[in-house]
Amino acid sequence: MKITRLVTYHAAPRWLFLKIETDEGIVGWGEPVIEGRARTVDAAVHELSAYLIGKDPARINDLWQTMYRGGFYRGGAILMSAIAGIDQALWDIKGKALGVPVYQLLGGLVRDRMKTYRWVGGDRPADLVEQVHRYRALGFDTFKFNGTEEMQLLDSPRRVDAAIAKVAALRDAFGDSIDFGVDFHGRVGAPMARVLLKELEPYRPLFVEEPVLPEQAEYYPRLAAATSIPLAAGERMYSRFEFKQVLANGGLSLLQPDLSHAGGLTECLKIAAMAEAYDVALAPHCPLGPVALAACLQLDFVSHNAVLQEQSIGIHYNQGADLLDYVLNKDDFHCDHGSIAALPKPGLGVEIDEERLRHAHENPPDWRNPIWRHSDGSVAEW
Ligand SMILES: [Mg+2]
Repeated sequence: MKITRLVTYHAAPRWLFLKIETDEGIVGWGEPVIEGRARTVDAAVHELSAYLIGKDPARINDLWQTMYRGGFYRGGAILMSAIAGIDQALWDIKGKALGVPVYQLLGGLVRDRMKTYRWVGGDRPADLVEQVHRYRALGFDTFKFNGTEEMQLLDSPRRVDAAIAKVAALRDAFGDSIDFGVDFHGRVGAPMARVLLKELEPYRPLFVEEPVLPEQAEYYPRLAAATSIPLAAGERMYSRFEFKQVLANGGLSLLQPDLSHAGGLTECLKIAAMAEAYDVALAPHCPLGPVALAACLQLDFVSHNAVLQEQSIGIHYNQGADLLDYVLNKDDFHCDHGSIAALPKPGLGVEIDEERLRHAHENPPDWRNPIWRHSDGSVAEW
């Protein structure tokens, strides 16, 4: 079998789909994207296609190494996201060619179902109680929301109180019948992270995500030493070489590699195995589309340390299309009490509605994250 062509589709809300075609008619799908820079990743995918056209798609390991090591300059959000989507599509082809789901090629299932959680509250956390009520009725019991809005490096106790009040209201309304993670989203610097973690402790979140930016990863062990709340991070780390450092330094309890950012399934399998050796749990980051989620699920179902899966149904970013809009086998993604069963179809397990994607591509999205500013006019982390 030989790779013949790479086709990309931009589609609402902010996604990029890749189809890899072969001379035997089997095609594979991937989602090579970094949110807000879809066109840059698209260009990188087509640049990398020179290494792929005419090659045997079965040699995923060699193609991955060629894409990664074949460039003298490597790594980073753009290139690793391009490799990630290509890698997903290659696994999809391999599974389809052999007629089995990818998890069968990776040693088989370690669990029967995978627990997922729902996003609530939007960019600026609001209406948490009302939204949790709604999703509880659908069987979900685990949630995530943004912990704060803009937060200065040193900020007022009023800001802290406003953030804590929202969490307190959730515990008031639902007691211990729900679990939730709180995402600081890199909006909080080290001085205020210490304050917020202390105040959050009585409400017992499952985890606090990106308590500080990954650029300040040296604070993860220091913050972990000062709180009993498990700390999570990983969506802005792009290879096992970056994860190596944070695992060795300690502090994180939960790793959140993104299957569309960190080199795809091939790389994230290795990251998951490294985490397992450090007794660190796994919750793949996935506010993206259905191919990214399918790739995450393949990893979850073969990784003993996978504990939670993010998914984007109804997420605040999904304007113009939702998770399953471009999917034909929607039933396979059914969440029963918040959990998804192993996807039964060969390959990654997602059947893409290409006609619908073609249509979406005619009106390509131009999603960018908002630029936030503090009250003094300076740029704030979003
Ligand atoms: Mg996050």
